[in-house]
Amino acid sequence: MAIPSKFGELLGKISDQGEKFNKLDSPKCRYYAFLSKIEDVSPKDMPIEDQTWAALFEIVPYEWIESLPEEIWESKTPLPISPASLIETDETKASDFAEALNAKVGEIDEGDWYILEDIEPLEEGSPRPAETVSTGKVVKGIRSDGDYKRKGVRTNVKGGPAPDKKKQKVAKKHTAEGKFIANVIKDKMGDRIPSAIGVMDVGQASCNLVYDINGIPIFYFDLGLPTSTHWDSMPDFAGTSRLIDPGPCLRNNPFVVLSHWDEDHRTMARLSNNHLDLARLLWVVPEQRIGPTGHNFLRRLVDVHVWPANLTVRLKSNNNRIRIIKCSGRSINGSGLAVVVNTSPNEDDQTWALLPGDAFFQHIPGIVVLDKFWMTAPHHGSDNELVLNQIPQPGVNDEGRLAYSYGIKADGSHCYNHPKADAIQAYRNSGWGGTNDDKVSATAERGPRSGENPRERGNIMMCYDIHPPDCGTPNCPFHHFKIVLE
Ligand SMILES: [Zn+2]
Ligand SMILES: [Zn+2]
Repeated sequence: MAIPSKFGELLGKISDQGEKFNKLDSPKCRYYAFLSKIEDVSPKDMPIEDQTWAALFEIVPYEWIESLPEEIWESKTPLPISPASLIETDETKASDFAEALNAKVGEIDEGDWYILEDIEPLEEGSPRPAETVSTGKVVKGIRSDGDYKRKGVRTNVKGGPAPDKKKQKVAKKHTAEGKFIANVIKDKMGDRIPSAIGVMDVGQASCNLVYDINGIPIFYFDLGLPTSTHWDSMPDFAGTSRLIDPGPCLRNNPFVVLSHWDEDHRTMARLSNNHLDLARLLWVVPEQRIGPTGHNFLRRLVDVHVWPANLTVRLKSNNNRIRIIKCSGRSINGSGLAVVVNTSPNEDDQTWALLPGDAFFQHIPGIVVLDKFWMTAPHHGSDNELVLNQIPQPGVNDEGRLAYSYGIKADGSHCYNHPKADAIQAYRNSGWGGTNDDKVSATAERGPRSGENPRERGNIMMCYDIHPPDCGTPNCPFHHFKIVLE
């Protein structure tokens, strides 16, 4: 089919503009910024004003957005790949953070767009912010291009909400969109029988791989790596090159379910040496508000199914062994996808494992009725949205098995203060792990906040003691497990 000339013309214009402004650094040190994440790192529950926040922005030069042809905002043409980078703010009092963004604490929400000013450049020789007599509050942060080997730059962070009209346009173009064909996903699930789940040690991030009884991968649930400020929580599979080498195991072309769009759940697919192969897998991702790096990520995926935000059903494989569940929350953590798999060797038995991602139980419909024996702790062991009476009970008169995925920095501190002591206790009280140390584990140390020295970190195998056979890739990271939670 010929491209209609108007559409072709638009593409031409976009690529012209792309050439001119396709640089990470803004000439005026000014950026459109998507507030991708606010993590409450307060040691205990606090009124919102007094909370301590660590935030992540995905930013793109102001000029890049402004120079896009006006027609693009009303067209169906997706935005081109943009020169996006990241800013992570230091832990800051919420009220100070709000002041630096010229907003009130209660108005600040993940998924909002801001304009940030006087941001330090990443490249040498780019214009730097003028030495202004800076009035008003600034918070400090670190800017990076998302490359884990390149050191970020320190920058002030200040600005204000993007003007309403522009914000709407930009946000509309930054929503994950794409085809969604349930039968194609079901065909890919086929009649595979999940038997075990590798909860991988990826530092302050999340990556689970579901295997069949022979240790052959079926699908990934998230492919994350830490963001810049938590890079030192990564294990050494990072190798010496700029990319993770070797990348995640791709034996048997597993499909991928992305729980939600946070960087720490998808970055491995960008920074691995096999990222082109990863982009060709079948991906199932949720429709959510996304920022410039999320948008770029989505555009590089070749075979992606975007689960519509308003589609609340769950998707089951024909043998009912794999279910993908649309979460019902409002936040980015709580509105993505969760997974349950029935790992029982007998068809009539139900022994389910729950992979919630960063979603809490009240946002995952249908799980209370399942007999669950295994799960990963939601949101790296955070307690932010943990509702005690929503914690599922393990299904038998036996403790449930629980795996935590979080990171510890080189200085020994827990990234974002995860996991929280009261969450650990709450899971124990609800029968997960109980007092039995061999039924609960963590990727970064032997158990949640077990605090041993030296730490015993590594991948965790849940459900069944399987041994993934050699896949032909030397040093493939996902074949060794420090513990089996059977
Ligand atoms: Zn492998
Ligand atoms: Zn996360």
